[in-house]
Amino acid sequence: MHDLVIENALVFDGTGRPPRHVDISIDHDRVTDVGPDLGLSRERIDAEGLALAPGIIDSHTHFDAQITWDPMVTPSPEHGVTTVLIGNCGFTIAPCKPEHRDVTMRNLVRVEGMSLKAMQQGIDWEFETFADYLELLERRGVGPNVGAFVGHSSIRTYVMGEDAPLRAATATEIEAMRRLVEDAIDAGAVGFATSTSPSHNGADGNPMPSRLADENELRTLVGVLGNKNKGTFMLTKGASTPVPWLETLAADTGRAVVVAALLHNSTDPDTVFQDLDGIEAARSRGNQMWGQVSCCPLSTEFSLRAPYPFEGIAAWKPAMQADSDESYKALLADVSFRNSIRAELTRPAVVRLFNNEWEKLSVIETVLEKNRNIENCTLAELAREHHTDPLDFLLDLVLEENLDTTFLSVLLNSDEDAVTRLLTHSCSSIALSDAGA
Ligand SMILES: [Zn+2]
Repeated sequence: MHDLVIENALVFDGTGRPPRHVDISIDHDRVTDVGPDLGLSRERIDAEGLALAPGIIDSHTHFDAQITWDPMVTPSPEHGVTTVLIGNCGFTIAPCKPEHRDVTMRNLVRVEGMSLKAMQQGIDWEFETFADYLELLERRGVGPNVGAFVGHSSIRTYVMGEDAPLRAATATEIEAMRRLVEDAIDAGAVGFATSTSPSHNGADGNPMPSRLADENELRTLVGVLGNKNKGTFMLTKGASTPVPWLETLAADTGRAVVVAALLHNSTDPDTVFQDLDGIEAARSRGNQMWGQVSCCPLSTEFSLRAPYPFEGIAAWKPAMQADSDESYKALLADVSFRNSIRAELTRPAVVRLFNNEWEKLSVIETVLEKNRNIENCTLAELAREHHTDPLDFLLDLVLEENLDTTFLSVLLNSDEDAVTRLLTHSCSSIALSDAGA
Protein backbone atom coordinates (compact mmCIF):
# COMPACT_ATOMS: atom_id res chain seq x y z
CA MET A 1 0.00 0.00 0.00
CA HIS A 2 1.31 3.48 -0.94
CA ASP A 3 1.53 6.38 1.48
CA LEU A 4 -0.11 8.76 -0.97
CA VAL A 5 -1.60 8.70 -4.47
CA ILE A 6 -2.35 11.89 -6.37
CA GLU A 7 -5.01 11.16 -8.99
CA ASN A 8 -6.31 12.84 -12.14
CA ALA A 9 -3.71 15.59 -12.36
CA LEU A 10 -2.33 16.85 -15.63
CA VAL A 11 1.33 15.91 -15.10
CA PHE A 12 4.16 18.00 -16.49
CA ASP A 13 7.14 15.80 -15.68
CA GLY A 14 9.84 18.41 -16.23
CA THR A 15 11.54 16.67 -19.16
CA GLY A 16 9.81 18.87 -21.72
CA ARG A 17 7.54 16.13 -23.07
CA PRO A 18 3.82 16.89 -23.50
CA PRO A 19 1.74 16.77 -20.29
CA ARG A 20 -0.38 13.68 -19.59
CA HIS A 21 -3.20 12.62 -17.28
CA VAL A 22 -1.65 10.03 -14.94
CA ASP A 23 -1.62 9.18 -11.25
CA ILE A 24 1.45 9.44 -9.05
CA SER A 25 2.29 7.44 -5.95
CA ILE A 26 4.50 8.70 -3.15
CA ASP A 27 6.17 6.64 -0.45
CA HIS A 28 8.45 8.09 2.22
CA ASP A 29 8.55 11.50 0.50
CA ARG A 30 9.61 9.98 -2.87
CA VAL A 31 7.71 9.54 -6.11
CA THR A 32 7.59 5.74 -6.52
CA ASP A 33 5.34 5.18 -9.50
CA VAL A 34 3.59 7.00 -12.32
CA GLY A 35 0.67 5.64 -14.33
CA PRO A 36 -2.93 4.48 -14.12
CA ASP A 37 -4.22 2.04 -11.46
CA LEU A 38 -1.54 2.47 -8.81
CA GLY A 39 -3.44 0.48 -6.23
CA LEU A 40 -4.28 1.17 -2.62
CA SER A 41 -2.95 4.09 -0.62
CA ARG A 42 -3.34 5.42 2.88
CA GLU A 43 -4.16 8.87 1.51
CA ARG A 44 -5.53 10.00 -1.86
CA ILE A 45 -5.71 13.47 -3.37
CA ASP A 46 -8.04 14.16 -6.28
CA ALA A 47 -6.23 16.73 -8.42
CA GLU A 48 -8.87 16.92 -11.18
CA GLY A 49 -8.45 20.21 -13.06
CA LEU A 50 -5.02 20.88 -11.58
CA ALA A 51 -1.50 20.62 -12.97
CA LEU A 52 1.22 18.67 -11.19
CA ALA A 53 4.90 19.37 -11.81
CA PRO A 54 8.26 19.00 -10.08
CA GLY A 55 9.14 21.97 -7.86
CA ILE A 56 10.75 24.86 -9.68
CA ILE A 57 14.35 25.75 -8.86
CA ASP A 58 14.58 29.54 -8.93
CA SER A 59 18.29 29.92 -9.48
CA HIS A 60 18.52 33.73 -9.53
CA THR A 61 16.93 35.37 -6.49
CA HIS A 62 17.84 38.13 -4.06
CA PHE A 63 16.04 36.83 -0.97
CA ASP A 64 19.11 37.34 1.27
CA ALA A 65 17.49 40.09 3.34
CA GLN A 66 13.82 39.05 3.14
CA ILE A 67 14.50 35.48 4.22
CA THR A 68 15.59 36.72 7.66
CA TRP A 69 12.07 38.01 8.38
CA ASP A 70 10.06 35.87 5.94
CA PRO A 71 11.38 32.28 5.93
CA MET A 72 8.69 31.29 3.39
CA VAL A 73 10.09 33.85 0.90
CA THR A 74 6.61 34.74 -0.27
CA PRO A 75 5.25 34.66 -2.88
CA SER A 76 7.68 32.25 -4.62
CA PRO A 77 6.29 28.96 -3.21
CA GLU A 78 2.83 30.00 -4.46
CA HIS A 79 4.30 29.98 -7.96
CA GLY A 80 5.59 26.42 -7.54
CA VAL A 81 9.12 27.27 -6.43
CA THR A 82 10.57 24.72 -4.01
CA THR A 83 14.27 25.69 -4.19
CA VAL A 84 15.82 29.16 -4.27
CA LEU A 85 19.41 30.24 -4.77
CA ILE A 86 20.22 33.48 -2.95
CA GLY A 87 23.25 35.77 -3.08
CA ASN A 88 23.23 36.17 -6.87
CA CYS A 89 25.45 38.91 -8.33
CA GLY A 90 27.27 38.88 -4.98
CA PHE A 91 24.65 41.11 -3.33
CA THR A 92 24.49 39.39 0.04
CA ILE A 93 24.06 40.68 3.58
CA ALA A 94 26.73 38.36 5.04
CA PRO A 95 29.41 38.58 6.13
CA CYS A 96 28.70 41.99 7.63
CA LYS A 97 30.21 43.91 10.54
CA PRO A 98 27.72 45.98 12.57
CA GLU A 99 29.27 49.22 11.26
CA HIS A 100 28.61 48.16 7.65
CA ARG A 101 24.92 47.33 8.02
CA ASP A 102 23.79 50.76 6.93
CA VAL A 103 25.84 50.86 3.71
CA THR A 104 24.90 47.24 2.95
CA MET A 105 21.21 48.14 3.06
CA ARG A 106 21.70 51.36 1.07
CA ASN A 107 23.58 49.39 -1.59
CA LEU A 108 20.60 47.03 -1.92
CA VAL A 109 18.19 49.95 -2.17
CA ARG A 110 19.97 51.31 -5.22
CA VAL A 111 21.09 48.14 -6.95
CA GLU A 112 18.00 45.97 -6.44
CA GLY A 113 15.30 48.54 -5.65
CA MET A 114 14.64 47.07 -2.18
CA SER A 115 12.82 49.15 0.43
CA LEU A 116 15.12 50.70 3.01
CA LYS A 117 12.31 50.85 5.55
CA ALA A 118 11.45 47.17 5.09
CA MET A 119 15.10 46.19 5.55
CA GLN A 120 15.61 48.46 8.57
CA GLN A 121 12.57 46.99 10.25
CA GLY A 122 12.91 43.48 8.99
CA ILE A 123 16.49 42.23 8.81
CA ASP A 124 17.49 40.06 11.72
CA TRP A 125 21.16 41.04 12.13
CA GLU A 126 21.97 38.25 14.54
CA PHE A 127 25.09 37.31 12.58
CA GLU A 128 28.43 38.66 11.48
CA THR A 129 30.14 35.87 9.53
CA PHE A 130 28.68 33.93 6.62
CA ALA A 131 28.64 30.81 8.79
CA ASP A 132 26.58 32.71 11.42
CA TYR A 133 24.16 33.77 8.71
CA LEU A 134 23.60 30.20 7.50
CA GLU A 135 23.27 29.10 11.11
CA LEU A 136 20.57 31.74 11.65
CA LEU A 137 18.62 30.45 8.63
CA GLU A 138 18.97 26.86 9.88
CA ARG A 139 17.83 27.80 13.36
CA ARG A 140 14.81 29.78 12.19
CA GLY A 141 13.88 27.26 9.50
CA VAL A 142 13.05 28.01 5.87
CA GLY A 143 10.09 27.18 3.61
CA PRO A 144 11.73 26.10 0.35
CA ASN A 145 15.20 24.59 0.01
CA VAL A 146 17.82 27.34 0.05
CA GLY A 147 21.29 27.45 -1.49
CA ALA A 148 23.34 30.54 -0.68
CA PHE A 149 26.22 32.04 -2.66
CA VAL A 150 28.78 34.01 -0.70
CA GLY A 151 28.78 37.50 -2.19
CA HIS A 152 31.81 39.38 -3.41
CA SER A 153 30.49 42.86 -2.59
CA SER A 154 29.87 41.87 1.03
CA ILE A 155 33.29 40.23 1.31
CA ARG A 156 34.91 43.36 -0.07
CA THR A 157 33.00 45.68 2.28
CA TYR A 158 33.90 43.46 5.24
CA VAL A 159 37.62 43.72 4.45
CA MET A 160 37.96 47.18 2.91
CA GLY A 161 35.18 49.17 4.63
CA GLU A 162 34.41 52.46 2.94
CA ASP A 163 37.17 51.94 0.36
CA ALA A 164 35.36 48.88 -1.03
CA PRO A 165 33.53 50.74 -3.85
CA LEU A 166 36.45 53.08 -4.55
CA ARG A 167 39.69 51.25 -5.35
CA ALA A 168 41.55 48.06 -6.19
CA ALA A 169 42.50 45.85 -3.24
CA THR A 170 46.04 45.37 -1.89
CA ALA A 171 47.64 41.94 -1.73
CA THR A 172 46.90 41.77 2.02
CA GLU A 173 43.25 42.65 1.45
CA ILE A 174 42.91 40.06 -1.30
CA GLU A 175 44.36 37.44 1.05
CA ALA A 176 41.84 38.44 3.74
CA MET A 177 39.01 38.15 1.21
CA ARG A 178 40.29 34.80 0.03
CA ARG A 179 40.12 33.46 3.59
CA LEU A 180 36.54 34.72 3.98
CA VAL A 181 35.47 32.96 0.77
CA GLU A 182 37.18 29.82 2.03
CA ASP A 183 35.36 30.03 5.37
CA ALA A 184 32.03 30.55 3.60
CA ILE A 185 32.53 27.54 1.32
CA ASP A 186 33.49 25.46 4.36
CA ALA A 187 30.33 26.68 6.10
CA GLY A 188 28.13 25.51 3.22
CA ALA A 189 27.97 28.27 0.59
CA VAL A 190 27.02 26.80 -2.80
CA GLY A 191 29.59 28.99 -4.51
CA PHE A 192 30.92 32.49 -4.97
CA ALA A 193 28.98 35.25 -6.78
CA THR A 194 30.01 38.61 -8.17
CA SER A 195 29.07 41.35 -10.62
CA THR A 196 31.16 43.33 -13.07
CA SER A 197 28.09 44.91 -14.69
CA PRO A 198 28.03 48.71 -15.16
CA SER A 199 24.32 48.72 -14.36
CA HIS A 200 25.10 47.69 -10.77
CA ASN A 201 25.53 50.81 -8.66
CA GLY A 202 25.22 51.15 -4.92
CA ALA A 203 25.00 53.70 -2.12
CA ASP A 204 26.14 57.28 -2.80
CA GLY A 205 26.25 56.63 -6.55
CA ASN A 206 29.34 54.43 -6.24
CA PRO A 207 29.73 51.21 -8.23
CA MET A 208 28.86 48.06 -6.32
CA PRO A 209 32.13 47.08 -4.59
CA SER A 210 32.82 43.96 -6.69
CA ARG A 211 33.14 46.14 -9.79
CA LEU A 212 36.41 47.52 -8.42
CA ALA A 213 38.08 44.10 -8.36
CA ASP A 214 41.03 43.62 -10.68
CA GLU A 215 41.80 40.42 -12.54
CA ASN A 216 44.08 39.11 -9.81
CA GLU A 217 41.42 39.58 -7.12
CA LEU A 218 38.77 37.78 -9.18
CA ARG A 219 41.13 34.94 -10.07
CA THR A 220 42.20 34.50 -6.46
CA LEU A 221 38.68 34.43 -5.05
CA VAL A 222 37.26 32.14 -7.74
CA GLY A 223 40.39 30.03 -7.26
CA VAL A 224 39.09 29.02 -3.81
CA LEU A 225 36.41 26.95 -5.56
CA GLY A 226 39.10 25.16 -7.53
CA ASN A 227 41.25 24.51 -4.46
CA LYS A 228 38.30 23.10 -2.56
CA ASN A 229 36.91 21.40 -5.69
CA LYS A 230 33.52 22.65 -4.58
CA GLY A 231 30.93 25.26 -5.54
CA THR A 232 29.84 27.26 -8.57
CA PHE A 233 31.08 30.65 -9.73
CA MET A 234 28.19 32.97 -10.63
CA LEU A 235 28.61 36.39 -12.14
CA THR A 236 26.63 39.13 -13.81
CA LYS A 237 28.92 40.14 -16.58
CA GLY A 238 30.21 43.51 -17.75
CA ALA A 239 32.58 44.39 -20.58
CA SER A 240 35.70 43.60 -18.50
CA THR A 241 34.83 39.91 -18.17
CA PRO A 242 34.05 38.51 -21.63
CA VAL A 243 33.11 34.84 -22.09
CA PRO A 244 36.58 33.70 -23.31
CA TRP A 245 38.15 35.15 -20.16
CA LEU A 246 35.50 33.53 -17.99
CA GLU A 247 36.29 30.24 -19.70
CA THR A 248 39.85 30.50 -18.38
CA LEU A 249 38.39 30.58 -14.84
CA ALA A 250 36.30 27.49 -15.56
CA ALA A 251 39.38 25.79 -17.02
CA ASP A 252 41.71 26.78 -14.14
CA THR A 253 39.31 25.78 -11.37
CA GLY A 254 37.46 22.89 -12.98
CA ARG A 255 34.30 24.42 -11.53
CA ALA A 256 31.09 25.52 -13.29
CA VAL A 257 30.76 29.16 -14.29
CA VAL A 258 27.24 30.61 -14.55
CA VAL A 259 27.02 33.80 -16.60
CA ALA A 260 24.19 36.32 -16.20
CA ALA A 261 22.36 38.27 -17.46
CA LEU A 262 22.06 37.13 -21.07
CA LEU A 263 19.27 39.39 -22.28
CA HIS A 264 18.53 40.33 -25.86
CA ASN A 265 19.22 43.92 -26.89
CA SER A 266 17.40 45.02 -30.05
CA THR A 267 20.03 47.67 -30.76
CA ASP A 268 22.83 45.09 -30.54
CA PRO A 269 21.02 41.89 -31.54
CA ASP A 270 23.95 39.50 -32.01
CA THR A 271 26.01 39.91 -28.87
CA VAL A 272 23.88 37.73 -26.62
CA PHE A 273 24.00 34.87 -29.12
CA GLN A 274 27.76 35.26 -29.48
CA ASP A 275 28.00 34.91 -25.69
CA LEU A 276 25.91 31.72 -25.74
CA ASP A 277 27.89 30.33 -28.66
CA GLY A 278 31.09 31.12 -26.73
CA ILE A 279 29.68 29.17 -23.80
CA GLU A 280 28.82 26.27 -26.09
CA ALA A 281 32.36 26.28 -27.49
CA ALA A 282 33.77 26.31 -23.94
CA ARG A 283 31.69 23.26 -23.13
CA SER A 284 32.96 21.43 -26.18
CA ARG A 285 36.44 21.97 -24.67
CA GLY A 286 35.29 20.38 -21.41
CA ASN A 287 34.78 23.61 -19.47
CA GLN A 288 31.47 23.77 -17.63
CA MET A 289 29.60 26.98 -18.37
CA TRP A 290 25.97 28.07 -18.39
CA GLY A 291 24.21 31.25 -19.49
CA GLN A 292 21.31 32.61 -17.44
CA VAL A 293 18.48 33.81 -19.69
CA SER A 294 15.00 35.15 -19.00
CA CYS A 295 11.57 34.47 -20.45
CA CYS A 296 10.35 37.97 -19.55
CA PRO A 297 11.03 41.36 -21.09
CA LEU A 298 13.23 43.40 -18.79
CA SER A 299 11.09 46.40 -18.07
CA THR A 300 11.18 48.82 -15.20
CA GLU A 301 8.84 51.41 -13.79
CA PHE A 302 10.76 54.33 -12.35
CA SER A 303 10.81 57.98 -11.42
CA LEU A 304 13.83 60.25 -11.63
CA ARG A 305 14.25 59.76 -7.87
CA ALA A 306 15.70 56.31 -8.68
CA PRO A 307 16.18 56.06 -12.46
CA TYR A 308 17.70 52.57 -12.66
CA PRO A 309 17.70 52.49 -16.50
CA PHE A 310 19.92 55.58 -16.62
CA GLU A 311 22.30 54.62 -13.84
CA GLY A 312 24.38 52.41 -16.11
CA ILE A 313 25.27 55.42 -18.26
CA ALA A 314 28.72 56.64 -17.16
CA ALA A 315 27.79 60.27 -17.81
CA TRP A 316 24.88 59.88 -15.36
CA LYS A 317 27.24 59.33 -12.42
CA PRO A 318 27.27 62.98 -11.20
CA ALA A 319 23.45 62.75 -10.92
CA MET A 320 23.75 59.73 -8.57
CA GLN A 321 26.17 61.68 -6.43
CA ALA A 322 24.08 64.86 -6.06
CA ASP A 323 23.59 65.38 -2.33
CA SER A 324 20.34 67.37 -2.40
CA ASP A 325 17.23 67.72 -4.55
CA GLU A 326 18.39 71.23 -5.47
CA SER A 327 21.81 70.21 -6.78
CA TYR A 328 20.23 67.20 -8.56
CA LYS A 329 17.66 69.41 -10.29
CA ALA A 330 20.32 71.95 -11.27
CA LEU A 331 22.28 69.15 -12.91
CA LEU A 332 19.24 67.79 -14.75
CA ALA A 333 18.67 71.28 -16.15
CA ASP A 334 22.29 71.67 -17.22
CA VAL A 335 22.84 71.62 -20.99
CA SER A 336 26.35 70.18 -20.86
CA PHE A 337 25.15 67.34 -18.59
CA ARG A 338 22.37 66.57 -21.07
CA ASN A 339 24.79 66.70 -23.99
CA SER A 340 27.17 64.29 -22.31
CA ILE A 341 24.32 61.76 -21.83
CA ARG A 342 23.27 62.14 -25.47
CA ALA A 343 26.84 61.73 -26.68
CA GLU A 344 27.32 58.54 -24.67
CA LEU A 345 24.03 57.05 -25.86
CA THR A 346 25.09 57.39 -29.49
CA ARG A 347 28.16 55.22 -28.82
CA PRO A 348 27.74 51.41 -28.75
CA ALA A 349 28.22 49.64 -25.42
CA VAL A 350 28.77 45.97 -24.61
CA VAL A 351 26.39 46.11 -21.65
CA ARG A 352 23.90 48.91 -21.20
CA LEU A 353 20.27 48.78 -20.10
CA PHE A 354 18.97 51.88 -21.83
CA ASN A 355 20.02 52.19 -25.47
CA ASN A 356 18.41 55.34 -26.80
CA GLU A 357 15.17 53.48 -27.60
CA TRP A 358 12.80 56.32 -26.76
CA GLU A 359 9.90 54.50 -28.43
CA LYS A 360 10.16 51.92 -25.61
CA LEU A 361 10.08 54.51 -22.82
CA SER A 362 6.69 55.93 -21.92
CA VAL A 363 5.06 58.20 -19.38
CA ILE A 364 2.89 56.17 -17.00
CA GLU A 365 1.65 58.73 -14.51
CA THR A 366 2.02 62.48 -14.31
CA VAL A 367 1.75 64.60 -11.18
CA LEU A 368 0.13 67.68 -12.71
CA GLU A 369 -3.42 67.64 -14.00
CA LYS A 370 -2.39 69.63 -17.06
CA ASN A 371 0.02 66.85 -18.13
CA ARG A 372 -2.52 63.99 -17.90
CA ASN A 373 -2.93 63.97 -21.69
CA ILE A 374 0.61 62.68 -22.19
CA GLU A 375 0.12 59.60 -20.01
CA ASN A 376 0.80 56.40 -21.96
CA CYS A 377 2.65 58.30 -24.70
CA THR A 378 6.19 57.30 -25.59
CA LEU A 379 9.01 59.79 -25.30
CA ALA A 380 9.69 59.30 -29.02
CA GLU A 381 6.13 60.43 -29.85
CA LEU A 382 6.22 63.33 -27.44
CA ALA A 383 9.54 64.62 -28.73
CA ARG A 384 8.31 64.45 -32.34
CA GLU A 385 5.12 66.24 -31.49
CA HIS A 386 6.88 69.03 -29.60
CA HIS A 387 9.79 69.30 -32.06
CA THR A 388 12.31 68.67 -29.34
CA ASP A 389 14.81 66.05 -28.21
CA PRO A 390 13.39 63.15 -26.13
CA LEU A 391 15.90 63.56 -23.29
CA ASP A 392 15.16 67.27 -23.09
CA PHE A 393 11.43 66.57 -23.07
CA LEU A 394 11.80 63.99 -20.29
CA LEU A 395 14.03 66.12 -18.08
CA ASP A 396 11.96 69.29 -18.55
CA LEU A 397 8.85 67.31 -17.60
CA VAL A 398 10.35 65.87 -14.42
CA LEU A 399 11.71 69.26 -13.37
CA GLU A 400 8.22 70.71 -13.77
CA GLU A 401 6.80 67.80 -11.72
CA ASN A 402 9.34 67.87 -8.90
CA LEU A 403 10.94 64.54 -10.02
CA ASP A 404 7.81 62.50 -9.35
CA THR A 405 6.61 61.60 -12.88
CA THR A 406 6.42 57.81 -13.32
CA PHE A 407 7.86 56.18 -16.45
CA LEU A 408 7.92 52.68 -17.89
CA SER A 409 10.93 51.52 -19.81
CA VAL A 410 11.06 48.25 -21.73
CA LEU A 411 14.79 47.79 -21.79
CA LEU A 412 15.77 44.38 -23.08
CA ASN A 413 14.32 41.01 -24.14
CA SER A 414 11.30 42.48 -25.92
CA ASP A 415 11.79 40.62 -29.24
CA GLU A 416 9.85 37.36 -28.82
CA ASP A 417 11.59 35.48 -31.65
CA ALA A 418 14.98 36.31 -30.18
CA VAL A 419 13.80 35.30 -26.70
CA THR A 420 12.60 31.94 -28.09
CA ARG A 421 16.11 31.34 -29.43
CA LEU A 422 17.57 32.20 -26.02
CA LEU A 423 15.22 29.90 -24.12
CA THR A 424 15.88 26.94 -26.41
CA HIS A 425 19.66 27.31 -26.63
CA SER A 426 21.44 24.18 -25.38
CA CYS A 427 23.59 26.17 -22.90
CA SER A 428 20.95 28.44 -21.42
CA SER A 429 19.33 28.17 -18.04
CA ILE A 430 16.01 29.94 -17.48
CA ALA A 431 16.57 32.24 -14.53
CA LEU A 432 16.73 35.92 -13.62
CA SER A 433 13.46 36.20 -11.69
CA ASP A 434 15.32 38.49 -9.25
CA ALA A 435 12.74 37.44 -6.63
CA GLY A 436 13.18 39.30 -3.37
CA ALA A 437 14.39 42.42 -5.16
ZN1 LIG B 1 20.60 39.67 -9.79
